[in-house]
Amino acid sequence: MLIDVKKLSLGEQLDFDYKENLVVRNVPVEVHAFGKVSFTEEGYIVSGKFDAVLNLKCDLCLDAFTQRAEGVLDEVYSNDADEEKEYWHFEDKTLDLKPALEANIMLKIPMKAVCSDNCRGLCPKCGQNLNKGECGCDREYSNPVFEGLMDLFKD
Ligand SMILES: [Zn+2]
Ligand SMILES: [Zn+2]
Repeated sequence: MLIDVKKLSLGEQLDFDYKENLVVRNVPVEVHAFGKVSFTEEGYIVSGKFDAVLNLKCDLCLDAFTQRAEGVLDEVYSNDADEEKEYWHFEDKTLDLKPALEANIMLKIPMKAVCSDNCRGLCPKCGQNLNKGECGCDREYSNPVFEGLMDLFKD
């Protein structure tokens, strides 16, 4: 995701459109980024959008699933040293979009990945994925809270 800005003069802009596979926080991500780069007094301003497919693994049932994410790119590339502002640095008049995209996608990766609101997870006794069917284990009495309740009602 390198953008060559050698031919860009001050005041000009150019379009970019990239598709690439990244790995962010161990999550494989297919990302599509598009927008424009403007060469201004402040530096090279990248403004655009991205949409991504996150290839996640459910924390409950461990099945693979995908989740879409999208966001806005609004980045400044400059080699000026300005302590007030955060710039992406670049070399050889070439902007690398990858670190900026990774930073944006990082924020979109859920802390807890769950394949669906109805995910039933794995059976704590035999490990079967309960979304795929009942295993037949007697799970109710393995829950200590539930067991406590059962004790209350015993007498
Ligand atoms: Zn799940
Ligand atoms: Zn089971």
